[in-house]
Amino acid sequence: MQAITVRPSRPGSAALSDIAEPAPSPGEALVETLAIGICGTDREIIAGNYGEAPPGADRLVLGHESLGRVLTAPAGSGLAAGDLVVGIVRRPDPVPCSNCAVGEWDMCRNGRYTEHGIKGLNGFGARRFVAPPQFLVKIDPALGESGVLLEPASIIAKAWEHIERIGNRAHWAPRRLAVLGGGPVGLLAAWMGTERGLDVHVLDRVISGPKPDAVRAIGATYHAGDVEGACSDSDVIIECTGASQLVLDAMRWTAPNGITCLAGLSSGGRAIPMNVGALDRSMVLENDVVFGSVNANRRHYEAASRSLAAADRGWLQRLITRRVPLAEWSDALTPRSDDIKTVIEFSRV
Ligand code: BGC
Repeated sequence: MQAITVRPSRPGSAALSDIAEPAPSPGEALVETLAIGICGTDREIIAGNYGEAPPGADRLVLGHESLGRVLTAPAGSGLAAGDLVVGIVRRPDPVPCSNCAVGEWDMCRNGRYTEHGIKGLNGFGARRFVAPPQFLVKIDPALGESGVLLEPASIIAKAWEHIERIGNRAHWAPRRLAVLGGGPVGLLAAWMGTERGLDVHVLDRVISGPKPDAVRAIGATYHAGDVEGACSDSDVIIECTGASQLVLDAMRWTAPNGITCLAGLSSGGRAIPMNVGALDRSMVLENDVVFGSVNANRRHYEAASRSLAAADRGWLQRLITRRVPLAEWSDALTPRSDDIKTVIEFSRV
């Protein structure tokens, strides 16, 4: 069967390969892939900067943002043929560490977790895949193709859960949210901010196109490049770009008791001079918190699924700005300036 594969650490090695059909073991579901979403992590893997093939293999099947339809499922698993599902990306480490042991693999302590399509485990970018039902999340069929946004939404559902836990260290009545980056993760962070009744501000570089339109459509304010306008006096800042200067700005601009969540992965270092003493002083005197957040566990996928189900379907559809058929898969890997989310379509939803 067809699968998009890559040889990790070999730039330019991505290919449409023919791989063996998966055979579900008892207790596993067989899923037909409908679509996969492409994100910066996939592009880093393709560029040879990230990613790890499964043990003993030299190629990795790409794809960690999935949408599939169940073909067969074990009896009593809660899944049935025809259900729309999304695969959970991370699997617990084999030890397991104390967090993986309780299903909080997103907080793995020893780094021995695996991730579909990223680290030591084949991804969902194949015609079919198998998974145990506990690593599949059934979605509202009405979401249709937008279900492919569940994985990026799960990242933000986790970020929000942690923001709220930190916020509740004291009286917590946030008013203003700034989101840095108007890509899919940033827009979903903004949507979840509006769900919480916040005054939401989104910063990106573009001055027109689908990003500013998507921000305004949910009643949020769009800022083209104006960091101070977007960030100042924010109770919460969610940084989704990983751009060094914005990471620093995000730490600086919060209101007293502010929370900055770093959710964007930096692709490399850029040295920026900074006054650590001044940053320390303002963070200490204002009880500021800066924290990193990655991945998601099942609870976060479920929260994200509720949040997507509550969003306007037309708005979610607008986040998918490019649909590329599998035969033209390589087109999806080159980003275009007005892309929000690009998906590769394997089969009709
Ligand atoms: C994925 C996460 C993953 C992270 C690090 C992100 O693109 O969405 O699930 O944990 O990359 O590998």
